[in-house]
Amino acid sequence: MECGTAVILTWMADASLFPMARCRIGHGYDLHRLEPHPPEGEGRSLVLGGIRFDHPTGPVGHSDGDAVLHAVTDALLGAIGEPDIGQLFPDDDPRHDGQDSAVFLAEAVRRVNDRGFRLGNLDITIICERPKIGPRKDEMLGRIASILGCERNLVNLKGKTHEGVDAVGEGRAVEVHVVVLLASGAPQPKDHS
Ligand code: MG
Repeated sequence: MECGTAVILTWMADASLFPMARCRIGHGYDLHRLEPHPPEGEGRSLVLGGIRFDHPTGPVGHSDGDAVLHAVTDALLGAIGEPDIGQLFPDDDPRHDGQDSAVFLAEAVRRVNDRGFRLGNLDITIICERPKIGPRKDEMLGRIASILGCERNLVNLKGKTHEGVDAVGEGRAVEVHVVVLLASGAPQPKDHS
């Protein structure tokens, strides 16, 4: 068997994991500046992945500034080729002042479903010096899966530091990367066993 043939056969075996499915990949990114709360700064309460953190600084943003939900929203919208979160929910629209970012993500999920896609899996990386992500990870995963309407095991979340380097490393910003895989077809029913 020639090397090229082996590669093709391997690819066909992997493709069988998604029989008859069309797949789409999306990437989402967000960064929010972190400032002390008023009156010292303009930072809102710190919310990440829909979970509120008790922290001396918070995001400067028009909505609640949840960089995790913003990046997840953009990953989903990007996967289906829709306008990004800033285009759908402009930051000069007073209706979005302090808005719970779950509203933005729910709209992205609705558009994904309307296009006939379901979540394959979602991988999130949060980069910040503080707060520590690990102790709140399960809460965040539960909240994100709830908004997505999916099994919790389809969502992965990692917390990393920026090794003290640059604005993120100095605690002046939080940064989030998200990769999502969508597959065509109706959402799979949740397993309640
Ligand atoms: Mg944002």
